[in-house]
Formats: sequence, C-alpha cells, structure tokens
Amino acid sequence: MWTLGWRDRVWADLSRPWDVIVIGGGITGAGILREAARVGLRVLLLEANDFASGTSSRSSKLVHGGLRYLKQGEIKLTFESVRERERLLREGRGLIGQLGFLLPNFVGDSPPAWVFGLGLSFYDVLAWHWTHRHYDALDMRDLCPPLRAEGLLGGYRYFDAQTDDARLVLRVVREAVGKGGVALNYARVENLLRRSSGQVCGVVARDMSGEAERTLEIQGTVVINASGAWADEVRGQLNAPRQLRQLRGSHLVFSHAQLPLRRAISFLHPVDRRPVFALPWEGVTLFGTTDVDHTATLNTEPAISGRESDYLLDAVRYAFPGLTLAEADVQAAFSGVRAVVNTGQADPSKESREHILWREHGLLTVTGGKLTTFRRMAHAALQTVRAELPGDPQFDRKRRLLITPTEVETHPQLDAMARWRLIGRYGADEPELLRAAQTGELEAIEGSVARWAELRWAARAEGVVHLDDLLLRRVRLGLLLPHGGLGQIDRLRAIVQPELGWDDARWAREIAAYRARWGKHYALGEAA
Ligand SMILES: Cc1cc2nc3c(=O)[nH]c(=O)nc-3n(C[C@H](O)[C@H](O)[C@H](O)COP(=O)(O)OP(=O)(O)OC[C@H]3O[C@@H](n4cnc5c(N)ncnc54)[C@H](O)[C@@H]3O)c2cc1C
Repeated sequence: MWTLGWRDRVWADLSRPWDVIVIGGGITGAGILREAARVGLRVLLLEANDFASGTSSRSSKLVHGGLRYLKQGEIKLTFESVRERERLLREGRGLIGQLGFLLPNFVGDSPPAWVFGLGLSFYDVLAWHWTHRHYDALDMRDLCPPLRAEGLLGGYRYFDAQTDDARLVLRVVREAVGKGGVALNYARVENLLRRSSGQVCGVVARDMSGEAERTLEIQGTVVINASGAWADEVRGQLNAPRQLRQLRGSHLVFSHAQLPLRRAISFLHPVDRRPVFALPWEGVTLFGTTDVDHTATLNTEPAISGRESDYLLDAVRYAFPGLTLAEADVQAAFSGVRAVVNTGQADPSKESREHILWREHGLLTVTGGKLTTFRRMAHAALQTVRAELPGDPQFDRKRRLLITPTEVETHPQLDAMARWRLIGRYGADEPELLRAAQTGELEAIEGSVARWAELRWAARAEGVVHLDDLLLRRVRLGLLLPHGGLGQIDRLRAIVQPELGWDDARWAREIAAYRARWGKHYALGEAA
C-alpha cells in the first residue's frame, strides 16, 4: 500500500485543493477519512507521528458498551457502543472478536451482585442478545482458577469484544485509501490557514519523517481537528480557550504463563472500589487501568508512574493471591491519554466519555468518545459540515465500514483461525502478504501469535518510518514479547532491514532509539 517512494509521491501531490483535511491519524481521524472517501470526497489525513501512535494504540483494546458508563447514567453512550460492537463483530471478523467477561462478587462488595445482574440484563437488552449468566463461587473458580477464593460469593459471566486497536486504525485507513482517500503519517499540521474573514481554509504541514525538509500550505474546504488529547493545541492556533482535561490510563502486561486467563475478569479495586480488569489479549494478559490527571507535556510519550503501577499491582495481588505477582513479573506497561471536557469533577472517572463537537472559525473539532464509537463520531462530524461539501454527499450510517470476505480458502500452512487473524488485520492486502512470505515466514514468531511474514509485509508496504512503528503498532512485539521483542532481533533484522532499505548505521540508530524508548515508556523498574 505504502511502498518505497510513496511518501515523495504523496508530498508532490498535496498542493491540490481538498474537500476535507483531517488532522490526526488515530481512530477518529481514520473513521472520518473512511466515510469521506466512501462518498467520493477528496480527503486528506495528516498525522504528525505514526498512525495510531496517540491514544488509539494505548487503549484497553475493548470494543464494548461500557458497563461502567451504564452505572454513571451514560445510557445513550452505552446504547450506541453496544450497537457499534455488534456491527464491528459482524464486519471485522479476525480483527474484532468476542470476549467472555467474568464479574466476580465478594463479601462486602458495593453495589451488591443483584445490581450487576440488573445492569447486565439491560446491557443484553440493548444488544438484543441474552448472554449473561450467574455462577456460584465454585463455578467461578472453575472458570477462572487463579481467582481469589476468600470471600468469593459467585458472579456473572457476560460477553463483550476486543480488538487490536492499532491494527483497527490501520485497517480503517487502508479501506479509505482503497476508496481514494489519502493518508500520510509523519506530517504534522503546524498552523492553520485563514481567510481574511478569519475562517479556517487549510493547513501548513511539515514533513517529520526525517527523509526530507519540507513544509507546504494545503487548502481545504473543510478542516477537521481529530487530534485527540492534542485537540486544544490545534484549537490554540485560533486562540480558542482550553476546554479539555487530559486523563492518563495505564496498563500492565503479563505473560500468559504469569497470569493465565482464558476470559477477562473485572472486579472492584480493594482500595478505592474502582472497577479494574485483567484480559487475555494476543497471548498475553493486560491489567488496567488507572485514571489520573496527565499533567506532563504531550510532546513526549506518556508512561506509567510508580504510584499507578503500585495501584495496579495491589489489585492483581488482591484478585490472584496465589500467583504472588510482583513488579519483576511485569513484561511491559503502556499508558494512553484521553481527552474529556473539563467540568472540574474531583474524581476524573466521573468526567463524561461522550464525544465532543465544536465549530470555531470554521475549524471542526471532534474528540473524546471511544474507540468503539468511531463510526458514529465520523458521521456526526461529517454531517456537521455536509452543507459546505461539494456534490451533496450522503453519509449512510448503515453501510459496511470494513469489507471482509465471508469465507476463506484453506491454506497449506495456516489453519482457518490463523488465516482469519491475518485477514482481519490486513484486509484486502492479506493475499499479497501471503505471496510476499518467504520460506518459514508463515510460522508464528516464538512466544507470539504473530507471523514473521507480517513483519516483512509491514516493513515493505505499511509506511514504517521508525522501528517503533513496526514493533509497537504494525506487529505488536513490543508488548507481546519480553524485552520489547529485542530477543528476536537477529531474525527480525534479516527480514526487515532490506525491506526498509536501511544501511547498518541507520539500523544501529533505530535499535538504540527503540531500546531507549521501550525502557522509558513501556517498562517498569527492573525491566527498564
Ligand atoms: C487508558 C485508555 C483505555 C481506553 N480503552 C478503551 C477501550 O477499551 N475501548 C474503547 O472503545 N475506547 C477506549 N479508550 C478510548 C479510546 O482509546 C480513545 O477515545 C481513542 O483512541 C481516541 O482516538 P483519537 O483518534 O481521537 O485520538 P488519538 O488516537 O490520540 O489520535 C490523535 C492523533 O492526532 C495526532 N496529532 C496531534 N496533533 C497533530 C498535529 N498538529 N498534526 C497532525 N497530527 C496531530 C496525534 O499524533 C495522534 O496520533 C481508552 C482510552 C484510554 C486513555
């Protein structure tokens, strides 16, 4: 899709006028690009860093209604999220899959179990599926053997869904590019262009890839600010007052051997009674999350604080006391920052997770919301500016967003599940990925469900600029393997260095930068 020379070709073509310019290549921007491209608009997405390098690769990876939001009375958000979950499950086989959840209930829990039962009934009604069930304590332990036995009364099992968030962004962008949309990573919007009336009419973009020094004025009928937690920075160019509160959420990653779970499990933190959860994902177990004010600069990657890791480890040890897990058992950690409207709530978790739309001097800002509801956010944004767009575009919310085949042919080296996994992640590119694979590259990378061939393909055709693009977002070895995947670096190098066209000096620089980044932002204490 984005092979060698692609970046230069795109830059050479940027100065033509665009109907829509989207700032930000997370899930919100990707969704807008997809929906605008579908109706034939000339749409350009500019991402300052790598696609999904913001919050959209750092979520809990759930495609969910959000039981928690139901409790906070955000019924509309829960309803929309449940409907979207069902649609994404239908459209994104191999990328979005069902996930069983356990909700254990312990002596003294507040609210009591029946309240959860009521909430789950409502949740199921919203989805038109009756899936939840109550189990006694013995059955709960059967479903989750490491679970704390002391005080366990029983609990519920229900279903939500999960995905690979960074791959979801890539997949949506890929679908949009297939329909004529243009997306460029490492292209930062440095300024907004304005008419003499003050209305925004374009952007000034700078190449951040390091491949060339270039900035360009680009004209657009409509400019949409989908820069997530950075949205206030972009709005700041219009002197618009800051409106957002940045909240950081962090996760710990354990190997499956350390924290072996077949289903997700959510329970109340023993100290502050906030819901926390552990979930199996891609062969590891994620544990999260925190919800704290992020006061550090957004110019560097967020990282988990010592207080957050202690908080999460306390909950792990409470729920799984027999596993005696400690800091040294944590394989990796990651943090993301969400934008919410700042209403000054003392408890950050009480700030609404609904998306926000603001129109200021023609600039449309869309932020907040959830990964799950990106399609709805895209529609809301495009409907807001529809009258200004050429050709009376009709944005049809009912049309499929991800185009996935209904069946797969058998493959001599891949079972059906492995094949679906690749189709889900690479969409229409999957057959080419298979053809590009060299001997032995369809085997799984040791300790991971990912295949070597994915690395070759991503390096060849997925716009990789730095090693962390490849190892943290295209194929997520940075989270899935110990030491950020550096244990596999020799074979990995043999595959990807020629594809990327890097000489040895560049390779050495990239490895050093990746090692430093991983240690600082994706590891805890000893591991760092
Ligand atoms: C800890 C945590 C867990 C979460 N878990 C879930 C979950 O399980 N399920 C769910 O549905 N939702 C979840 N969410 C919410 C979800 O992750 C976010 O709502 C979503 O990822 C936000 O996407 P976005 O595209 O708006 O922002 P981002 O993904 O942050 O994208 C914004 C992009 O804009 C770019 N940008 C910034 N400034 C510029 C500029 N000047 N020029 C060009 N580009 C720019 C940034 O580099 C960034 O890539 C979670 C959020 C957090 C924080």
